[in-house]
Amino acid sequence: MAKKILITGGAGFLGSNLSERLLTEGNKIYCLDNFYTGFKRNVEHLLDHPDFELIDHDVTEPFDKLDLDVDQIYNLACPASPPHYQEDPVFTTRTAIFGVINCLELAKKTGARMFQASTSEVYGDPLVHPQPETYWGSVNPIGIRSCYDEGKRVGETLMFDYHRQHGVDIRIVRIFNTYGPRMNPEDGRVVSNFIVQALKGEDITIYGDGKQTRSFCYVDDLLEGFVRLMNQDETVGPVNCGNPGEFTMLELAEKVLAKVDSNSKLTFHPLPGDDPKQRKPDITLAKKYLDWEPKVALDDGLDQAIAYFKSAIK
Ligand code: NAD
Ligand code: UDP
Repeated sequence: MAKKILITGGAGFLGSNLSERLLTEGNKIYCLDNFYTGFKRNVEHLLDHPDFELIDHDVTEPFDKLDLDVDQIYNLACPASPPHYQEDPVFTTRTAIFGVINCLELAKKTGARMFQASTSEVYGDPLVHPQPETYWGSVNPIGIRSCYDEGKRVGETLMFDYHRQHGVDIRIVRIFNTYGPRMNPEDGRVVSNFIVQALKGEDITIYGDGKQTRSFCYVDDLLEGFVRLMNQDETVGPVNCGNPGEFTMLELAEKVLAKVDSNSKLTFHPLPGDDPKQRKPDITLAKKYLDWEPKVALDDGLDQAIAYFKSAIK
């Protein structure tokens, strides 16, 4: 049945792909964004659709005046790439905390089910590998990543406290590094950096020795996990969604260079503070409750992403 769905951060990378998917499935979409790291161009092609509404609003401000009545809320609003969330760390923490509170207040008022986009960053620089949802993490509370990591951890706390205290219907996903079309070429995260650098023939910037690992999920796979989590009643989460394939940054750079005909050279730069050494999701819960696992291998997803960035940076 068609639902009225609020998507905060709807003009960003994940939000715009999710808006398109849920609109195509026949729902009414309220796409809310303040365009801090997102762009109107990401949803330009949806603007004329009668069931799509773009709302220019900051999630740190209450939603009362927006007069929204919705069935579901996906809270995605938050800068997500380290250079962007570290630019104004106080704003990042405010967004992570007040954004969740304002969404939860709306959920409490309307009875909507609320989905929170949490992150593998709640595990910090993990001492357990791969990371299951039962692992409480290893996070520095005062480092340069803390505004995001701790903000997202408090986000989860608020979700569970509103659930226990006010009976709000919640779902929490912990997202591992995701890439694909509509990423901002200047986003600053590793997949977009390496592809854009290779396409432009610029140096590939490896931070540290490049032996740190990450697991990269293609956007369509991730969104399938979101929708499955939101539309089942077995678990409120948190549930990890990510691709368990694990690669070093050197391996990623080599893959990108092999796919793009490029003269780019690898260059080595200092590792940013608190950069996690390894990351890989344990997706046992997602398999059990959502019957979900990623289908797109890194090689295939990179082909899609490269095709997108070729047209995006023309
Ligand atoms: P993104 O930067 O492309 O999108 C974030 C969107 O939120 C942007 O459109 C931005 O303008 C908007 N926004 C930021 N602050 C806001 C505010 N105060 N009010 C209203 N809008 C605001 O990043 P993304 O990759 O699409 O990430 C979306 C969500 O998923 C974020 O919450 C992020 O923490 C989470 N996440 C993403 C990844 C990933 O790999 N892409 C991994 C873990 C978690
Ligand atoms: N990284 C890199 N070169 C870049 C951007 C990032 O080597 O141009 C590294 C970064 O230090 C980290 C990994 O790639 O170890 C993933 O970084 P990203 O910003 O994509 O996400 P994170 O998982 O660290 O939040």
